[in-house]
Amino acid sequence: MSCVGLVVALTGGIGSGKTTVADRLAELGAGVIDTDEISRALTARDGAALAPIADAFGPDIRLADGTLDRARLRRRVFADPAARAQLESILHPLIEATMLERLAALQTDYAVLVIPLLFETGQQRHADRVLVVDVPESIQIARVMERSGLSETEVRRIIASQIPRQERNARADDRIDNSGERVDLEPRLHELHTAYTQIAVKRSRSIHA
Ligand code: ATP
Repeated sequence: MSCVGLVVALTGGIGSGKTTVADRLAELGAGVIDTDEISRALTARDGAALAPIADAFGPDIRLADGTLDRARLRRRVFADPAARAQLESILHPLIEATMLERLAALQTDYAVLVIPLLFETGQQRHADRVLVVDVPESIQIARVMERSGLSETEVRRIIASQIPRQERNARADDRIDNSGERVDLEPRLHELHTAYTQIAVKRSRSIHA
């Protein structure tokens, strides 16, 4: 059983600023679990997902040094929805199990689960509240292009594959606007951190009373 008093799922579109927000909440004292980081660990050299992926996609999905050929895998799943579904059926249960294991080990007042495709994968059931990082599409595109070198068309295609901004925002309990400078996030970050800590402490007290 987790010791945390509150579980917050943090989501947002590609490049919206999930990592930026999560890192700051961690600095303020939240216990952060990042599912992208779990996914990378699972597919790293000794990761638990590597063998099942090689079984499903063939030995040439590994490079000569035994690590995953991420570019080849990306091309395979990009071109073939069935291959994508197969990859997800391997990865998602492992990611979820690892996330829940780490959650159970946390000692902080509250937890932040960073789950990019939260609504798309129905994982909001693991959280008490959902926090959405929100930016207009134009900013999202500019930031992702600058970071990754993807073209505008490629970024737009990824955005179109995710839940629409309006729907994501409508399903949020809390929202943080990341359209300004990083420093502009601070007042809202502190407000959220204080509120989450208060809810968590109150809930823990009522459970242990
Ligand atoms: P992804 O969906 O790709 O995992 P993300 O939602 O975690 O992305 P970040 O990695 O936090 O988003 O931010 C995306 C990019 O935008 C990064 O290069 C980050 O440094 C930059 N960025 C985030 N917030 C701001 C900001 N307020 N001003 C300028 N750049 C920012």
